[in-house]
Amino acid sequence: MKAFLKGQSHKANNKFINRVVWAFNQANIRLTPFNTAAWLPLNSDSKTANKPINNKTVSKLTFSVLISSLFLTASHTALANPADTIKINQQALQPGGFVKGQLNNCLSYQISDSQTQQQGKCTQEGAFLFGFGRDADLTQTATFTLADNSTLTHTFTLQSRDYKIDRVNGVPSKTVNPPQSVLDRISKENGEIWLARNKESNSKDFLQSFIWPAKGRISGVYGSQRVFNGTPKRPHFGLDIAAPTGTQIIAPADGVITVAHPDMFYSGGTIILDHGFGISSTFIHMSKLHVKKGDTVKQGELIGEIGKTGRATGPHLDWRINWYQIRLDPAFWVPAGGHQ
Ligand SMILES: [Zn+2]
Repeated sequence: MKAFLKGQSHKANNKFINRVVWAFNQANIRLTPFNTAAWLPLNSDSKTANKPINNKTVSKLTFSVLISSLFLTASHTALANPADTIKINQQALQPGGFVKGQLNNCLSYQISDSQTQQQGKCTQEGAFLFGFGRDADLTQTATFTLADNSTLTHTFTLQSRDYKIDRVNGVPSKTVNPPQSVLDRISKENGEIWLARNKESNSKDFLQSFIWPAKGRISGVYGSQRVFNGTPKRPHFGLDIAAPTGTQIIAPADGVITVAHPDMFYSGGTIILDHGFGISSTFIHMSKLHVKKGDTVKQGELIGEIGKTGRATGPHLDWRINWYQIRLDPAFWVPAGGHQ
C-alpha cells in the first residue's frame, strides 16, 4: 500500500491543491471534547470545480457550532451548491485520530499528506470516516469527489502528540527474534491480517458509537515504543486492557468476523471484526474464541476471552482499530474511563 501511496498520484495531488479555486478564511473554533480526544480548529477549506479556475470567486466559510456537531458551510455563491457542506459529527485531530462526518452527494474521498494517500468511499447517504496514522503529518488534506464530479477540499490540522517508551523484559526469546523456521508462518498470518483489513464492505456498522470490548486496567497505550529484552521493536498500536484469563471480550460495535484464528505466532488467539468501509477492530492474545470467520455479531455480543497467547507477558486484551492499513488509536472511539 505504501509504495502506491508514495507514487505519482501524490505529486499530481499537490498540483491539484495549488489550483484551488476559492480561498476561505481561517476559522478558530474549539469544541467540547467527547473523550480524551482533543478538538482542534478546522482550517483552510476550498472547493474546486473541474472547470478552469476563477480566482475572483472568493467565498467565506460560515462556521456553525451546534451542541456536538460542526457544520462547514460554504456561503452561497453562484457556483456553490448549498447542499455540499461538510458536517463533522465527531473528530480527534491528532495522529491516531479520526474524523467522522457527512457530506451530501459525496462519492469518495482521498486523505493525503507528504507520506501517504488513502482513498475511502462515502456511504450512499454521504457519511464518511477516515483516520490518521501514528506518525502522520500534522497537515492532512481531504479531497472529496461529489456526484457531479466536482471536488471539495478541506485541510485538517492535527495537534502533535508524544508517545511513551515502554521497556518490557522477560519476553520469551523465541518471539523476540523468531528463528527462520517460523518466518513462513508469520508471513502467512500477516497476509491473512492484511487482506482482512483491506476488505471493502458496505456495512455501516462503523457509524455506531463504540463501547469498550472488555473491562480491566489499561496496561498499554497506542503509539508507545516498546523495547523487548533491550531490543527496540515496532511501536505498539493497540489499547491494552489487562484482566484475568477468561474475562469476557464483547464486540465494541456490530460487524462481521473476517479472521478468527486460535493461535497466531505474535498475536495468539486473534479476531478481526469488520465494521465496514475499511474500519476494522482487531483483538489479540485471546485464550478462547467464541466466534468463527463469517459470523455476524452485534455490539455487546461475546466474541472471546482474555488470555496471554502469542507475544504477551500477562493476560490482557490488545484491541486495535484500523482504517484500511492505517492504525488508529482505539482510545478515541470509546468514552474515557469506560474500561472500569
Ligand atoms: Zn498490546
